[in-house]
Amino acid sequence: MEELKHCINCDCQDFTTLYSLKDYFFTQENFTIQQCNRCGLRFTNPRPEEKDLGAYYKTENYLSHSDRNKTLFDKMYHFIKKYNLDHKRKLIEKFHTSGTIIDIGCGTGAFLGQFDKKRWSRIGFEPDADAREIAKNSYGIEARDLQAMNNLNGTKAEVITMWHVLEHVSLINEQLIKIKSMLKQDGILVIAVPMSNSHDANYYGKYWAAYDVPRHLYHFTKDTLQQLLSKHGFNLVENYPMVFDAFYISMLSEKYKKSSLPLVQSLIKGLRFDFAAKTKKGTYSSMIFVFRQ
Ligand SMILES: [Zn+2]
Repeated sequence: MEELKHCINCDCQDFTTLYSLKDYFFTQENFTIQQCNRCGLRFTNPRPEEKDLGAYYKTENYLSHSDRNKTLFDKMYHFIKKYNLDHKRKLIEKFHTSGTIIDIGCGTGAFLGQFDKKRWSRIGFEPDADAREIAKNSYGIEARDLQAMNNLNGTKAEVITMWHVLEHVSLINEQLIKIKSMLKQDGILVIAVPMSNSHDANYYGKYWAAYDVPRHLYHFTKDTLQQLLSKHGFNLVENYPMVFDAFYISMLSEKYKKSSLPLVQSLIKGLRFDFAAKTKKGTYSSMIFVFRQ
């Protein structure tokens, strides 16, 4: 295990422990979430060393890397995924309608696959070799491993996206410096992350599924994400809610709490969380942020 002694955002060494919780999703191992007393950033600390992190993703249940379609829950998930993909493409094309788009952590390529290859040069980076293979076979996307980010030979993009990826990146400052060098001057950086101050996060506490320790190393709020990005010269230009995430996260959280009727509970509570966020009394489960430099 590796223990962070300095906040990766502001370098402060003074932390408060917020939660002792488990990897409810997979290994059932215990972890701790701490919060920086200066900037408020929340992070998993200590965390597995970089070389050991891969082992925490080796489960058939990690839906972001699989296209299984068996249970009712999986079917619902895939219906919503399709809706979200369309929504995300439209959102991007409000800013740019052609050029180069880079998706970091592209998984099986479903997002990049939405973009017309006559107008867009589509580049995906993905650590999982099986996912890269699916991206190639399903969408004709030649996804590359993360190392290949160093071999772009000066290629710069109009759009760089990270969909629920930034919270997984251990060398986050180094990654953001790299990303800045890959973005055109008028380019946009689109980051979606779970919001650790959302209604559902507050309600479920340590059972909130989007803590997802130790795969999620950082647990952002709008404030802490903005602070980190601003340190790297990015300004927030827009933010959008991801309205279905409250249902999906509530469903998993109800399972971790071992409550009865998790599907029914998550439908009722997901609606309630989104309604509360919509009426401006708080934050959605996950948000999409658009930054410019
Ligand atoms: Zn800090």
